[in-house]
Amino acid sequence: TQTARKATVNYAAPAAEKVNQYGIRVSQAQGYVDSFTGAIGNTPLIKLHTLSKQTGATVLGKAEFQNPGGSVKDRAALYVVRDAEESGLLKPGGTVVEGTAGNTGIGLAHVCRSKGYRLVIYMPNTQSQGKIDLLRLLGAEVYPVPAVAFENPENYNWQAKRHAERLQKEDPEHGAVWTNQFDNVANRRAHIETTGPEIWNQTGGKIDAFTCATGTGGTLAGVTRYLKDVSNGKVKCFLADPPGSVLHSYIQSGGKLNERSGGSITEGIGQGRVTDNLKNEVKELDGSLNIADEKSIEMVYRCLDEEGLYLGASSALNVVAAKEVAEKMGPGSTVVTILCDGAYRYADRLFSQKWLETKGLRNAIPKHLEKYIIL
Ligand code: PMP
Repeated sequence: TQTARKATVNYAAPAAEKVNQYGIRVSQAQGYVDSFTGAIGNTPLIKLHTLSKQTGATVLGKAEFQNPGGSVKDRAALYVVRDAEESGLLKPGGTVVEGTAGNTGIGLAHVCRSKGYRLVIYMPNTQSQGKIDLLRLLGAEVYPVPAVAFENPENYNWQAKRHAERLQKEDPEHGAVWTNQFDNVANRRAHIETTGPEIWNQTGGKIDAFTCATGTGGTLAGVTRYLKDVSNGKVKCFLADPPGSVLHSYIQSGGKLNERSGGSITEGIGQGRVTDNLKNEVKELDGSLNIADEKSIEMVYRCLDEEGLYLGASSALNVVAAKEVAEKMGPGSTVVTILCDGAYRYADRLFSQKWLETKGLRNAIPKHLEKYIIL
């Protein structure tokens, strides 16, 4: 039974724009954006032609790799920093502290640079030197610490929390904040206020289903929340989960939380608990899909070959899920997913013969796509 909902936002007509002879949108909007943060969001929604033809549905991917920091996490980074400013914890010249090994750190580094904040990042010391170098290059102070479980007080998240508390005590005039992306619902709000409305407007409200994976849960929970509200519950929303995450079985079992076991080649997604960003939103979901690494890696190659899209593995997992949901929804339906980031940071693995063999995934690449295994 569907509970009645009040639409929180009305459908707004898209801004006037023209499409030129090459299919490029020429915006009629005037003016410029104010700094890096003004360039976040308003990403294109891309039709995936081959999968659309195969399923008879319209399969669309939100090009989050086009955010200025290169991933969907720019949106959350901006919102958690704005939240800290608005709460008064972060003042001019203050410090942001976060525990992250990936895209959130990069998004935060850009946002903090452009707004004049210091950034301190804690991460497990299992992360590549490349990631550490990039964060330092973007001005962050980086502390790689032993990779221990979330329950352990020495886990990188708790070290980040304590560092912020220390700084806040030492220098309350500038302030310091632990942005806490997993349990800070400003992260989810970024997607309720930006990603969700963009998808609704870009599809003109003609959307039957949405699916994506979760790391913090911000994207899935926020977009689901908005689409459910604005469509009065009509848009079906599904979690896409990699191996090693507990959320798929949590949803399938109606709320039983198993121990985390196994892993996945996908980075930035998969979760061992129900984060505050996901809490209260899980019950809104219409189901979940478990996507094997074999399917995700094949889709990395397929998107490159069929659509010219150079995507990271979490995006590819989302596309597999969108295809499966499209098959479920049937011809004529419209299914949207998230293209979280590009393959740039993962190329040395995703397109390496040796890495594929180590992961037992070499046979997942069909013959006609082997030409992309170039490393
Ligand atoms: N894909 C990638 C590559 C990511 O870095 C992340 C964030 N960890 C996600 C997907 C998941 O996004 P969210 O944190 O909003 O669940």
